[in-house]
Amino acid sequence: MAVNSGVSPSRGPVATLRRIAFLLERARADTYKVKAFRTAAAALLPLGEDEISARAGAGTLTDLAGVGASTAKVVAQVVAGEIPERLTSLEEEYGGELTSGGADLRQRLRGDLHSHSDWSDGGSPIEEMAFTAMELGHDYLVLTDHSPRLTIAHGLSVDRLGRQLAVVDALNEHLDGGFTLLKGIEVDILDDGSLDQTDAMLARLDLRVASVHSKLKMDPAEMTARMIAAIGNPFTNVLGHVTGRLVTGNRGTRPGSTFDARRVFEAAAEHGVAVEINSRPERRDPPTKLLELARDIGCLFSIDSDAHAPGQLDFQIYGCERAEAAGIDPERIVNTWPKERLLDWARR
Ligand SMILES: [Zn+2]
Ligand SMILES: [Zn+2]
Repeated sequence: MAVNSGVSPSRGPVATLRRIAFLLERARADTYKVKAFRTAAAALLPLGEDEISARAGAGTLTDLAGVGASTAKVVAQVVAGEIPERLTSLEEEYGGELTSGGADLRQRLRGDLHSHSDWSDGGSPIEEMAFTAMELGHDYLVLTDHSPRLTIAHGLSVDRLGRQLAVVDALNEHLDGGFTLLKGIEVDILDDGSLDQTDAMLARLDLRVASVHSKLKMDPAEMTARMIAAIGNPFTNVLGHVTGRLVTGNRGTRPGSTFDARRVFEAAAEHGVAVEINSRPERRDPPTKLLELARDIGCLFSIDSDAHAPGQLDFQIYGCERAEAAGIDPERIVNTWPKERLLDWARR
């Protein structure tokens, strides 16, 4: 996005390291390739410009925990007033538009309803996700880390989610009010259609994405009942990555679950639950035929990044391109709505 793009000679060391990480994440680089830049940015953040310059001059940047040879080189170049070649080459390779379509709709999105931090299986701290969402021009981002039964993704227990909510409150207090980090969850839809978190905790959240992560091969009639039960739960606001399919990427591919899509989408329309257009390139969920069916049935939609790293927040353009191609009215996309309207709707 324009706000955070382009080579800027005035960008300082921390901003340069963050920009490199952003571009790598946006290009779907593996986390380990990005980690060095994120770690170095965090290590330099508390230091003054003078100390960074002095260390660059003395060659002692690498004495800092978290700063290695390649990140120190980038910092030294910035301190010397140069644009690091690492940044230049990444801007050339990955800095351009991700798609040819969807730009008009992307302009209309005010926020993102599905994102993960390093409290569950994301790669970055909560504040880094929030700052990047601000830089992308959003008014709000919903933090939706996983629920307890998804142990592989370090799903949050009642206790940890409670602590996370306090962190979100503290973070919002430090922001100027133009941007809000909203409290959310990506809650597992259990086999019987119930949600994997207590009602008391779900009630403390601003918005809830409910997703199937287990037993995708369940019998279609059972899967239909499972999804309709979850949609009927008054806490459910968004039905996440509807089929669970994977179409590309390093996790391999898998077909989506099968269910009576007409009945599921009719239930969603009836209860005012938004069908998520999951923007992750490896998901592209729902498939086009189902997307068009949900459109024809009159469902609401949300276009979400499902970002597990800050740069992946830019994935939303992929979902916008698909929604635009399907001719979905932006007014039916809940994250084109202002925050207050979104929150009113989410209270069901
Ligand atoms: Zn998920
Ligand atoms: Zn997710």
